[in-house]
Amino acid sequence: MRISTLAAIVASLAIASSASAQFTYDPAGTLVSGSGRGRADTRVYAPDMRFPIRDAPSYANSQVWGVGGSEGPSGSQCDTRNYSYPWHDNYCETRTWDMPLCPSGTGHQGQDIRGPSCTAERHAVIAVVSGTITNVGSYSVYLTAADGTRYDYLHMRPVTVTSGERVTAGDVIGYVANEFGGTPTTTHLHFNIRQNVTGVGTVYVPPYTSLIRAYEALVGGSSGPRFAAEYVHQTFPLSEAAFELTPGTEVEGYLELRNTGSETWRPDQTFLATTEPRDGASPLRASDWISASRAATVDRVVAPGATGRFVFSVRAPAATGEYPQFFNVFQDGTWFGDDGGPPDRWIEIRVTVVPGMTTDPDDDADGVTIGEGDCDDRDPASYPGAREICGDGVDQDCSGTDLACPVDVDAFLPERPDAYTTSLPDPIDAGASVPVDAPDPRNSWRGGGASGCGCRVAGSDDRALSSLVLLAIAIAMLGRRRHRET
Ligand SMILES: [Zn+2]
Repeated sequence: MRISTLAAIVASLAIASSASAQFTYDPAGTLVSGSGRGRADTRVYAPDMRFPIRDAPSYANSQVWGVGGSEGPSGSQCDTRNYSYPWHDNYCETRTWDMPLCPSGTGHQGQDIRGPSCTAERHAVIAVVSGTITNVGSYSVYLTAADGTRYDYLHMRPVTVTSGERVTAGDVIGYVANEFGGTPTTTHLHFNIRQNVTGVGTVYVPPYTSLIRAYEALVGGSSGPRFAAEYVHQTFPLSEAAFELTPGTEVEGYLELRNTGSETWRPDQTFLATTEPRDGASPLRASDWISASRAATVDRVVAPGATGRFVFSVRAPAATGEYPQFFNVFQDGTWFGDDGGPPDRWIEIRVTVVPGMTTDPDDDADGVTIGEGDCDDRDPASYPGAREICGDGVDQDCSGTDLACPVDVDAFLPERPDAYTTSLPDPIDAGASVPVDAPDPRNSWRGGGASGCGCRVAGSDDRALSSLVLLAIAIAMLGRRRHRET
């Protein structure tokens, strides 16, 4: 296990060093000397296709006229001369196929391409566009796009698609090999583009220029940026789709990006970091982040043209609301947005935090839920044991009803209507006649400190008033008891 991992890393490094060699190509129509007359045609017939071999580098050149080929210099098909730039067009290379666009009227139909190495069944071949697999033969696979253009792949083994299957651009459909229905051939991919050409009909068109464009997109071009990434896939919902989480929820996923720059990405050197603002602490930080602004590092060594993943979780903050978070890639002190892109506001994860599914929330935050006896969970002043205010229509203490104020008492106190609300004697009333057996006013319906009435219970010799005060308190207590009993 350790050995195979090490071997994989060594292989990646080898690929990286080869890929960093500058991509060059001979012009369209310039064939290997003696292999036929080419078609000098700069038109790009399939401008939006991807390069058919997933990982760079690849070498478009002749098999028959290459080293080890039947018409080429002697040597091994794996000779490094076959695995080096520049590329050579071989669309019109000498064959007997009817080819109306070739100067001789016959030719090879498509382009031969060698992958990163001459080992068969190792290098993945992908769908260059989205479409349908319309045929799987003994050594050929046809992919037909919605516009009718057909892309032919020859010599793959194994083939991982079946006829009739729908594929998306980038899906693996097989592996570079030397399958030719029993006939010997080199390890390579033969690639055709068949398309309707005005005035000619449906024919095999020159694929060389389309392959150059797709390959430059894959490897970043010969004069491309050092640091650049292209979006491939993410398991998190896209930012325009709902991504609703309840507070505290963590969701793991990954973002897949292709290295379209010239520098290799490496774990612990290449990071997915927050932007808007750059390196800002993210509210979506989860337990597996490297820091508040670094969600993840790349999961493998990623050579130019290859694809890597950033695996991390997002955690929903406690408060409900929208949490957009932008990211970019950062390496060696460089933000990719300052070099080959993408821009800082391009990669986004947008979380909407929605209320949790609590069965008995304390809506008014008074510390008591409905289940615990709160008779009004929208009013923080109401809960069992709260201070009751008489006559306000509110049952603050959850006794079952509001406490009625003893309105009739006024009839007994025409001169001193507020006497019954008096509290402990304030200093000016020191020595006032407060009956010793009267309830502590702090326990009364007004509670303590409700002495703002400014009234005075003066006249220590006023025994009639003292009696009235006692009576008033008694009535009040009666009234209160009545309410309690309802
Ligand atoms: Zn071929």
